Amino acid sequence: MTIIRQQDFIDSIEDALQFISYYHPLDYVKAVEKAYDKEQSQAAKDAMAQILINSRMSAEGKRPICQDTGIVTCFVKIGMQVQWDKTDMTVQEMVDEGTRRAYLNADNPLRASIVADPAGTRKNTKDNTPAVVHIDMVAGDKIEVMIAAKGGGSENKSKMVMLNPSDDIADWVVKTLPTMGAGWCPPGMLGIGIGGTAEKAAVLAKESLMDPVDIHELIERGPETTEEKLRVDIFNKVNALGIGAQGLGGLTTVVDIKIKSLPTHAASKPIAMIPNCAATRHAHFYLDGSGPAELKAPKLEDWPQVTWELSKDTRRVNMDELTKEDILDWKVGETVLLSGKMLTGRDAAHKRIQTMFENGEGLPEGVDLTNKFIYYVGPVDAIGDEAVGPAGPTTATRMDKFTDMMLEKTGIIGTIGKAERGPATVQSIAKHKSVYLMAVGGAAYLVSKAIKKAKVVAFEDLGMEAIYEFEVEDMPVTVAVDSSGANAHETGPAIWKAKIEEIDQALSK
Ligand code: SF4
Repeated sequence: MTIIRQQDFIDSIEDALQFISYYHPLDYVKAVEKAYDKEQSQAAKDAMAQILINSRMSAEGKRPICQDTGIVTCFVKIGMQVQWDKTDMTVQEMVDEGTRRAYLNADNPLRASIVADPAGTRKNTKDNTPAVVHIDMVAGDKIEVMIAAKGGGSENKSKMVMLNPSDDIADWVVKTLPTMGAGWCPPGMLGIGIGGTAEKAAVLAKESLMDPVDIHELIERGPETTEEKLRVDIFNKVNALGIGAQGLGGLTTVVDIKIKSLPTHAASKPIAMIPNCAATRHAHFYLDGSGPAELKAPKLEDWPQVTWELSKDTRRVNMDELTKEDILDWKVGETVLLSGKMLTGRDAAHKRIQTMFENGEGLPEGVDLTNKFIYYVGPVDAIGDEAVGPAGPTTATRMDKFTDMMLEKTGIIGTIGKAERGPATVQSIAKHKSVYLMAVGGAAYLVSKAIKKAKVVAFEDLGMEAIYEFEVEDMPVTVAVDSSGANAHETGPAIWKAKIEEIDQALSK
């Protein structure tokens, strides 16, 4: 019988969550480095350069890789020969205690993103609890823990289907992936759960994402089992779609495909697919009664020395002097360096602004959006001399339902976020001669270095969803939709899908 101390378990959860907030798993870093080296699409290469630079900076500064520090998801496998030294807390309560301490850590506070009463008031619980905990009783005298901090943008793109037994799984993945857009911040991984029942397939998909990136080793030695063959098949077919990093078109959309399966009913083929994003964050440890887990910090030399060179004709603009006319010649795909003042807002702020207009009220006091850009972001709290903590973009697609109203009524000239806009929003952007700019999802700490000042100007009660005024200097963005309605998330993947077909044909000759 092994005795596990409650305190060791809680300390280990806390340490692991802090650790993964700033250290990417090295296997993911190496996989993105490989993808970066072979990438031929400049837009995708630039995005991966920012992801790799951000990753190294986070490791060095011990600050979150992404402003969305995730929902804690924890698999706990408890050996049947394990006993706890205290029984006044459940495993769920112990994981929650570790989560609470990690997210409220004064040296590296993490963003609290969990809301209670999800169908109603959606009130932030303020400490990122509760965690999602999956408990298994297994053979042995140890406790195994796999813990992740899963970003909302990638979790939102999860898919589930009950296929017919004769249906082809790879076909379904290839048909479904383009419908997921770029809000899951590729390049990442797809976790696929097959079999069991509907809910079990989803848990299998999530658990598969805890495995290391190893598809290239698998391809080298040759797949043998059904699952291995399916992994390689899906990996090749998905990358041939040309979606690329951040959905801008390119050679690498996924760096691995993970699969877990279980026997299922003869009439069923349950499939769940959950993507993991550029902020892939997970840790794996065992407790054997000898004390808390010790996670080995990676060495900074393990990160590639990637630099990101701006082309000499990169456009530099001062947002404090911009007018609608100035943005008319910004072209889709162009890199722009923004300086000056912008305002922020995401889901809750947009909803409140909409309600205020519906009630005949204007914008809140102190908010003037005339000729301003609105940046979709919910930053991490600042520490030390930071103006703001990591502050990367959130998925713009969620703001589509408000964008026409914002362009029509508030005087904004453009929006900044990540991922694609829907067709109606692209039309509205063109109609209002506006632009949509894209920052790289998963490069939040790097982006925050361009933010020199930050202050809350409205809706303080919304916490990270409040409206801030940011003063930025040379914040890099890409024109993703220009004032004519040209859309990088449509043209980029289409061009690269065709190019990949050409490359494959040339190679097969
Ligand atoms: S990388 Fe993208 S999807 Fe992942 S946590 Fe960050 S913003 Fe969310």
